[in-house]
Amino acid sequence: MLPLIPLLASIAPVAATAAGPAACAKITTQLGSSKVVSSELSLSYIESIEYWSTLQDAYKPSCVVYPKSAQDVSIVLQAVRAADSRFAIKAGGHNPNTFYSSVDKGVLLDMSSMTEKSYDPDTTLATYGPGGVFGDIYEYFADYNRTVVGARLAGVGTGLALGGGMSYLSPQYGLACDSFRELEIVLPSGEIVIASNKSNPDLYFASRGGGGNAYGVVTKYTVQSRPSGEFWAGNLIYTFPQKDNVIEAIGNFIQYNTDPKAAIIGTYEKLGTPDLNLNLDEAIIMFLVYDGPDPGDAFSNFTSITPLLDTTGIKTYLEVVNMPIPMSTEISRGANIFRVGVHRPGDGSYENALDIWRDWAETNKGRYTLLSLDFQPVPKSLTDASNAQGGNAMQMPDGPWFWLNYLITTPPGMSEADFNAVQASYRDMVKSSGNAEGLPLFINDANYDQNPLQTFSAFAKLQEIKKRYDPDNFFADKTGGWSFE
Ligand SMILES: Cc1cc2nc3c(=O)[nH]c(=O)nc-3n(C[C@H](O)[C@H](O)[C@H](O)COP(=O)(O)OP(=O)(O)OC[C@H]3O[C@@H](n4cnc5c(N)ncnc54)[C@H](O)[C@@H]3O)c2cc1C
Repeated sequence: MLPLIPLLASIAPVAATAAGPAACAKITTQLGSSKVVSSELSLSYIESIEYWSTLQDAYKPSCVVYPKSAQDVSIVLQAVRAADSRFAIKAGGHNPNTFYSSVDKGVLLDMSSMTEKSYDPDTTLATYGPGGVFGDIYEYFADYNRTVVGARLAGVGTGLALGGGMSYLSPQYGLACDSFRELEIVLPSGEIVIASNKSNPDLYFASRGGGGNAYGVVTKYTVQSRPSGEFWAGNLIYTFPQKDNVIEAIGNFIQYNTDPKAAIIGTYEKLGTPDLNLNLDEAIIMFLVYDGPDPGDAFSNFTSITPLLDTTGIKTYLEVVNMPIPMSTEISRGANIFRVGVHRPGDGSYENALDIWRDWAETNKGRYTLLSLDFQPVPKSLTDASNAQGGNAMQMPDGPWFWLNYLITTPPGMSEADFNAVQASYRDMVKSSGNAEGLPLFINDANYDQNPLQTFSAFAKLQEIKKRYDPDNFFADKTGGWSFE
C-alpha cells in the first residue's frame, strides 16, 4: 500500500486542475452554452481576460461565464462550490491585485452582460447592474438630467462602488457607496437576498465600502440619483519647477475649501526616461471640477499659478469624466500596481510624501515607465454627507484629510526578480511616508499587503459579518480579496 501523504500529494494537483472544468461542465448544462465560453481562442474569452493591470492577463480560467440574472449567479456559485473550484468576480477588471478579479484554472464570472438600468422620476432612485463601466451608466441617466455618484474616469467599473467610490460629486454627496439604498446580493450559499437598512442591515453596512468579493455577488445596485447639469471643469498642467507652489495650493485647498461643489485631484506624474535637465520627464496635472457654471474663487489658488496648459471651461458631466483625454482608463493599461497612503493636512506630511516620492523616482530611473502620485481630498462636507446617509463601513472620521494614490507602471518584459525587487523598494518608500493615525486606508487604491480592512474602526464588526455570510470560508478560500485576519 502506498503511504497516504504521497498519495494525497499526487492526487491534489489533478483534483485542483479538474475542479475548474468540472464546474464549467455543470454550469454549461444548467445555463446553456450561450452563457459559457471555454475556448481560449474565442474573442469574448480573450476580452474577458484583459485587465487594466496587464499583470493579470496571463491567467487562464477554465471557462468564462456571462450571467444575465441573480438566478444565473446563484447557479454558478453552487456549481463552483460543488466542484470545489476556484473562481473570480470581474466587473470592470481594474483592481490590480492578483486574483481579485482574475482566476487561473477556475471559473471567471464576467458580469458584463448585466447592464440593466432604470430611473424612477417619482422617487429619483436609479438602478444599475454590475456590468459595464460608469461612463455608460452616466450616459443613460444624463437623458433624465440625473447622474449617480461613481468613478471620476468613464472607463472604470462598478466594483468601485463596493470599495467606497470617490467621485467629483463626493464632497457634496459622500462616496458612491453612501448613495446606495438597496443591493441585490447572491450570498456565498447561493441564496438571493436584498440588503438595505431594513433587510439584512449588517450585510448592507459591510457592502458600503467594505470591498467586493467578500460577502457575495452584487447583482443590482439601487442608489439615490443626483441632479446633473453644467460643470465648470478642466485640467491645469504645470511644469515641475512649479511643484512647491502647486503643493502649497493643494494643501490650502484640502484645509480651507468649504464649497462642497468644488472638487480636485492633484496628480504628479513622472516618466522613467532620463530628464536630460529639460524637465520633460515630469508634469503636474490638476483636475478641477465645479458642479455649476461659476466656481467663483474656489480654485483661485490654482488659477493664480500660470499653467503650461489650461483646458478649463464649461463641460457636461460626460466630458468631465473624460478628462484629461477620452479613453484615459484604456490608454493607461500596463503592468500597474497601486498603493495608498492617508494623511492629515497641516502637519507637513503631504510635502514630505511628495519629496520622498520624488527622490525615489529620481534614483530608480529605468525601473518604471510611469509613476503617479495623486492627492485626493476628503473634506468635512464629504464625511458629513456620508454620516447623514448612515455612514459606511469605513466609519469615516471627520474631514479634512486626504488619500494619496501611488501608481507604478513597470516596463514590459521585466524579470520576476527585478519586478519583485522594484516592488519591494516602492513598498518601502510608500511605508516610509507613514500614515495618519485613526484614518482608514482606501480599499480602491490599496495593495493587498496593506490590509486596509484592519485600518477601519469597524473591523471587528466586519469580521463578524463576514463569518455570518461566509460561514464556511467559501469566498475566503476560493477567490482573492481583502484579508479579514
Ligand atoms: C484608471 C483608474 C481610475 C480610477 N478612478 C477611481 C475613482 O475615480 N474613484 C475611486 O474610488 N476609485 C478609482 N479607481 C480605483 C477603482 O475603484 C478600483 O480599481 C476598483 O477595483 C475598480 O472596480 P472595477 O469594477 O473596475 O474592477 P474589478 O477588478 O472588476 O472589481 C473590483 C473588486 O470588486 C469585486 N467585485 C466587482 N464587482 C462585484 C460584484 N458585483 N459583487 C461582488 N464583488 C464584486 C471584484 O471581484 C474585485 O475584487 C480607479 C482605478 C483605475 C485603474
